[in-house]
Amino acid sequence: MAKIAFIGLGNMGGPMAANLCKAQHHVTAFDLSDAAVAVAVEKGAHKAKSAAEAVKDAEIVVTMLPAGKHVRAVYETDVLPNAKKGTLLIDCSTIDVESARHVAALAQKGGYEMIDAPVSGGVGGATAGTLTFMVGGPDASFAKARSILEKMGKNIVHAGGSGNGQAAKICNNMILGVSMIAVSEGFMLAKRLGLDAQKLFDVASTASGQCWSLTNYCPVPGPVPTSPANRDYQAGFTAAMMLKDLLLAQQAASAASATTPLGAEAAQLFSLFVNSGHGAKDFSGIIRMLDGK
Ligand code: NAD
Repeated sequence: MAKIAFIGLGNMGGPMAANLCKAQHHVTAFDLSDAAVAVAVEKGAHKAKSAAEAVKDAEIVVTMLPAGKHVRAVYETDVLPNAKKGTLLIDCSTIDVESARHVAALAQKGGYEMIDAPVSGGVGGATAGTLTFMVGGPDASFAKARSILEKMGKNIVHAGGSGNGQAAKICNNMILGVSMIAVSEGFMLAKRLGLDAQKLFDVASTASGQCWSLTNYCPVPGPVPTSPANRDYQAGFTAAMMLKDLLLAQQAASAASATTPLGAEAAQLFSLFVNSGHGAKDFSGIIRMLDGK
C-alpha cells in the first residue's frame, strides 16, 4: 500500500483516484472543487484542505489537471515546496511538451523523480481502469510508477525521456484529427456521387483507405454500430478536447519547426466546429459541418 496524493479530481481524475482506492492504496485527495473532493472521499479517499497538505506525507503524487498553466502552478507553488525529497511525481494531464519538460527539470533539480503520463481512453477508460498511458521520463522512474499506473490503465508505454509522453499523445491525436476529416470527406464525396455509405465502408475498410477513424469510429451512422454517429454524435471524445490537442500539436510543431499543414488545417476546422457551438459533441460530428449542416 502506497501513500498517494491525488490532485485534480475532475471527469478523469475522479475515477482514476477511485481505482487507486479500490486497489487499497492510501489516497489523499485535493481539488479546488469541494464537490469533487466529496465524491473522492465517498470512494475511499482522505480529504486534504490544500494541495500542499495532500502532498506533505505522500510517497507518490498524481496530478490530473486541465492544462500546462495549472500544472506549472500546482508543482511550483504546492508540490515542489512541500513534498518530501525522493517523492515520485506523476503528471497525467494532457499539456504542452514545453511545460512538461520545464516542470520535470525543476523536479529533478529539487531531488524528485518525475514522469509525464498523459492518457487516452476517456472517462469510460478512467472508470474501467483500462486507460492507455504514454510515459515520458527516466527508465528507473518509469519502472517505479508502473505498478501504480497498472491500477488505472491497461496499456502502459514508455515513450522516452521527459515530455515524450506528451509528444506521443499529441502526435497520435493530430493523426486522429486529420484522419477523421479525411474519412468524413470520403463519405461526403461518396454521397454526392450516389455511392452508398455501407458500400464505401465495405471497400475502404479492407483496402488502402483503412484507418481507426473509419473502422472503429465511422462518422456516418450504420457501418460501425458502436460509433457516436449512431447516437447523434454524443461524446465519446468531445470536439473541444480534440481542438485542445490539435492546438497543442501546432504549438509543438511551431516550437520544433516541424511542417504540419494538415494538422494546422484540422485545427482550423475543429476551431470552426467548436466555435459554432458544438464543442460538447463528439469530434466525429465534424462530418455534419463538412456536409453544410
Ligand atoms: P476536468 O475539468 O473535469 O477536471 C480538472 C479538475 O482539475 C477539476 O476538477 C478542477 O477543479 C481541478 N483543478 C484545476 N486547477 C486546480 C488546482 N490548482 N488545484 C486542484 N485542482 C485543480 O478535466 P478532465 O476531463 O478530468 O481532464 C483532465 C486532463 O485529462 C486534461 O488535461 C485533459 O486534456 C485530459 N484528458 C481528458 C480526457 C477526457 O475524455 N475527459 C481524455 C484524455 C485526457
